[in-house]
Amino acid sequence: MKFPLISDIASTSVVSVDITSSVAEAIGMMLDKDHRNVIVIDKDCFKILTVIDILNIQKNKLDLSVKLSEVHLDIVPVIGREKNVLDTMEYLNNSIEYICVINPDKSLYGIVTHTDITSNIDPDTLMDNYRLQDFLKLNRRIKWVKKDTITFDLLKTMANDAFDNAVIVEDMKPIGILTTKDVMGLIRNKNDLNVSVSEYMSTPIETVPRNSSVKEALEFIKEKHYKRVVVVDNKGNLSGIVTQKELISLTYSRWATLMKEYQKELSEINNILKDKNKEYETLASTDSLTGLYNRYKFSELYLSSYLAMTQRHNEMSMILMDIDFFKKVNDTYGHNTGDNVLVQVSHALLKTLRNIDIVCRWGGEEFIVLLPTANLENALYLAEKLRVYIEELDIDIVGKVTASFGVTQIIEGDEMEDAVARADEALYLAKNSGRNCVKSKLAV
Ligand code: GH3
Ligand code: MG
Ligand code: MG
Repeated sequence: MKFPLISDIASTSVVSVDITSSVAEAIGMMLDKDHRNVIVIDKDCFKILTVIDILNIQKNKLDLSVKLSEVHLDIVPVIGREKNVLDTMEYLNNSIEYICVINPDKSLYGIVTHTDITSNIDPDTLMDNYRLQDFLKLNRRIKWVKKDTITFDLLKTMANDAFDNAVIVEDMKPIGILTTKDVMGLIRNKNDLNVSVSEYMSTPIETVPRNSSVKEALEFIKEKHYKRVVVVDNKGNLSGIVTQKELISLTYSRWATLMKEYQKELSEINNILKDKNKEYETLASTDSLTGLYNRYKFSELYLSSYLAMTQRHNEMSMILMDIDFFKKVNDTYGHNTGDNVLVQVSHALLKTLRNIDIVCRWGGEEFIVLLPTANLENALYLAEKLRVYIEELDIDIVGKVTASFGVTQIIEGDEMEDAVARADEALYLAKNSGRNCVKSKLAV
């Protein structure tokens, strides 16, 4: 799913006035440009003047020549135009309808509305499955009045309750609608407000049945260029009214919840995969009995150590070690005890060697040690140390074991197999020299 940038969805056809302008000037601009709001530019923030504010000013019988700085206006949150539409999520609540979009130099770029945000993250399938009656269950109050209501009374309740439209009914059947914009026009044209609303209402009104899907209702709204739609039950009685904004934002908030859960699920799967990966990597590189590196990992480490050696000109050696008469251990004490000897010998190796040394279980009861910074002399010394250490171990059940060692220094041009072959020759020599000893083979 792709989420657009704020600059892609913001409306740049925005009307703005300076805070030093008068309310009358602001109203003039709104009506001229057919906008329902105007952005008021204050010193360090943006405010907004909406039709509801104007109705309030009218209701309080304030002079329209009053400066905007004298009127209470809501501050509008701002967002950089380079942000992603998801960054506006925190603003998606009912009290914030507009967000000012700013350029990097903090000047006004445009405006995004609730609807802009939500309609750009398309929760298509949800809309298809969501019925209007589900929305109406959300206990939304509808502003409806009988057709003989006096227009000025309606204006007062509109301002008080911040309704921006009212459905006019006759025997519970919707027959017309009056919006705040209509009322503004009446005020501007100095129409008589002491007559019934039926004089001024837009009629007839088109309705949609309450079992329509949200998608159908939105398509209807789009086709007719309406902002809202009146919903009726199967008898044609007024059921409610839903705005485009509500339809989209409620569906969206459902969708957002779903997305959040989906996101959580994804990150959980991700974590499992990460752990599994680590597990697989460990499995692929270590010997399960002893925890030492396996042959595969050893050859990888040989290569990187070899490269480091040629670059740093240090000396590198290898020790091949084989436990003496191990078959007898197995035969005498059983395989499990044999395994335990392998584990204890492994620990002994790790304990005696330095961290930089690479210890690997070469196979069976054979171990190989790569000493990345040791020359032959150092390696022989270490091998002897290992030999003594192992000889002195007191192993459970078995008691004493010994091992034989073949040592060689690695020279430039040595592939791992070359070095191992020499170490093996040295080991063979050690076995033939009575075991429990260290022998070496020079590279030629
Ligand atoms: P030498 O001194 O000549 O090395 O004699 P050896 O008995 O140690 O040599 P040989 O290679 O004949 O025997 C090695 C034995 O190690 C044979 C095999 O069953 C045993 N072995 C190999 N892998 C394992 C293992 O993972 N666990 C156990 N318990 N035994 C193993
Ligand atoms: Mg062996
Ligand atoms: Mg052996």
